[in-house]
Amino acid sequence: MIKEIPIKSMAKTEFIDITDHVQNAINELNIKKGVCYLFVPHTTAGITINEGADPSVKKDIEEQLVKLVPFDGSYHHSEGNSPAHIKASLLGFSTFILIEEGRLLLGTWQSIYFCEFDGPRNRRVSLKVIREE
Ligand code: ZN
Repeated sequence: MIKEIPIKSMAKTEFIDITDHVQNAINELNIKKGVCYLFVPHTTAGITINEGADPSVKKDIEEQLVKLVPFDGSYHHSEGNSPAHIKASLLGFSTFILIEEGRLLLGTWQSIYFCEFDGPRNRRVSLKVIREE
């Protein structure tokens, strides 16, 4: 079974912490042990896991990605959102987290981020759990 997590981004570039949404989905599915796969079915948004405790970390990642892939660079894609496509590819479109005793096995400081690069838009993340029981 695949579960969809709806996401509404509010800015052009935005890192949205979806950790609670993912944990809630695990709770609803009543999964105690297994692997949770997350997939972003978009071409200008990605997903990453990084520090959730200090918000300046995600700000630094956002800012450095803009330096790496500037908005005013020379691009071929006529839609005008090449920087968003490139940044999404750099971060990737999928991740996985192990589950033990019904909890996502994230590190103490880790959060799961949906990474918007061409917002604001209505988005979604697909979640699939492989149960180990
Ligand atoms: Zn495009």
